[in-house]
Amino acid sequence: MNFIDINKNIVKEFPYTYGWLIDFEKIIMKDNCDIIIRDTDHYFDSIRVEVSSRLGDHETSWKYYSQIWDHISTHCCKCGSSNGVKTIGEYTLCSTVCRDCAEIMRISGVPIVGPELQLIPGLKHQSNIPMIKCRLKALDGHLFYKYSNDLYFQEGQFRVRNETSGEVVKLAGVYTGLRDWKGERIYTGDIVLAEDPVNRKFWGFIMFGNQWDKSDRDISPQWSGFCLAHGGGNFPSALCWASRIEVVGNVVQENEYAGPIPSDNDYESYSASHKESYKFSDENNLS
Ligand SMILES: [Zn+2]
Repeated sequence: MNFIDINKNIVKEFPYTYGWLIDFEKIIMKDNCDIIIRDTDHYFDSIRVEVSSRLGDHETSWKYYSQIWDHISTHCCKCGSSNGVKTIGEYTLCSTVCRDCAEIMRISGVPIVGPELQLIPGLKHQSNIPMIKCRLKALDGHLFYKYSNDLYFQEGQFRVRNETSGEVVKLAGVYTGLRDWKGERIYTGDIVLAEDPVNRKFWGFIMFGNQWDKSDRDISPQWSGFCLAHGGGNFPSALCWASRIEVVGNVVQENEYAGPIPSDNDYESYSASHKESYKFSDENNLS
């Protein structure tokens, strides 16, 4: 795949389609064709996928281009579903989404990226479900943990597989793969307290994604794919600015938490009822 006038990171915007294009390119390479992703100067559909023939065989490249177009205009670029697919805005390649992904993209605040974007439509469509450890909230409010292959979606609700009918749950965050300095696993929606090397503190609820470019403040590259969101339309902080992090709470325990993804609204209602200032657990409470 060739990228022309465009940053290769753009593929994060269309994970399903990118995977499909990689497989499709293997087929068309046997016919001496390559796939190009290009930012054109045109206003309409400016991020474009093209097929070029190394032999100048326009008929063949056009045939493959039509097949690509048919596929991307009928499949969600994020999860691959063909359920209620629509193109939002001008860019067919990266904004053709299914009904369920469109719902997630409408959640206010910092854009949702990361595994929940595949998990939730996947559970709803029973396909392409990423294997991930999930935090769940039972109807009585208690939190527990299951892998995604123990979950399913039926009659408008997420459920845990069991011997009888399946317990109704709210999705309440997924494992980030990170642990705090005490070894505790961190899930999306956890409130994380962070400090930088000169002991300046910052905190927020943790999300996948980081909208900051590389900067001198980055000191923990292993955390560069995450941010701490602050709600209220504020720009999130990059987690990689921190030298130490600790989980100090979560937004999903609140009664108002509706799910399926911890969001700005949840953080705002959490903050309204928790006016404390946060401390690391080894800090002197009197200081
Ligand atoms: Zn989708």
